[in-house]
Amino acid sequence: MPRPGVIICEALRNAFKKKKATIDYPFQEGVKPKKGLRGAHYFILEKCTGCRACERACPPMCIEMVPSEVTKTGKRPVINLGECIFCGLCEEACRYDALFLTDYIELSAFGRDEMIIYSKETKPSESKEQQEEG
Ligand code: SF4
Ligand code: SF4
Repeated sequence: MPRPGVIICEALRNAFKKKKATIDYPFQEGVKPKKGLRGAHYFILEKCTGCRACERACPPMCIEMVPSEVTKTGKRPVINLGECIFCGLCEEACRYDALFLTDYIELSAFGRDEMIIYSKETKPSESKEQQEEG
């Protein structure tokens, strides 16, 4: 256990340091995802066959298959990021490279509905913009 004098000296030294130990996120850039980090999904509807492999692989069962006019089986996945544990098993299960995780991590939202990825042919960030426009 450090002595109180040492702690006070350390606190004073840090108080007068010019470089801040924290950043004003999200107003200041600086949070860079580490390589291999698993963030929001990227879904390519055109590649999806609706095989349901991703749905079956998902441990918390946060992938739901909904009707689709594009896929072979007439189903496509919908992902609830609010329940996702970002394990990446859905990506591993998809043999058609239709679904994979990106390093997009800015996933805060005001409501649970905003955490659901519908037929994302676009990146989550672009899709968020589209939702705001629409
Ligand atoms: S995303 Fe991949 S695993 Fe999931 S239904 Fe489509 S093709 Fe099958
Ligand atoms: S990354 Fe999320 S959606 Fe994919 S299998 Fe894991 S929990 Fe399910």
